[in-house]
Amino acid sequence: MRLTCPYCGERDHQEFTYRGDASARRPSLDSQSIDEHNAYVFDRANPDGIHHELWNHTSGCRTHVVVARNTVTHEIISCDPVGPFAKVMK
Ligand SMILES: [Zn+2]
Repeated sequence: MRLTCPYCGERDHQEFTYRGDASARRPSLDSQSIDEHNAYVFDRANPDGIHHELWNHTSGCRTHVVVARNTVTHEIISCDPVGPFAKVMK
């Protein structure tokens, strides 16, 4: 699998470290629901199709990248930087 770092270009995925589901949203710090926090930490979907994943270019520029990947075909749809210039995810 090849990932395209927005700064370094196309690289082998072994230069990157998987950091988890990029669509998971941390509950508000004001939330008192232990179930909500447990779900954020432990519950993960295993979808067929497009999945947004957070990767870190650990052997390169160390930037975090949101990779949209089809989990069935392994097609890489996009690799976007995380930060103020990143696309707003739904
Ligand atoms: Zn890079």
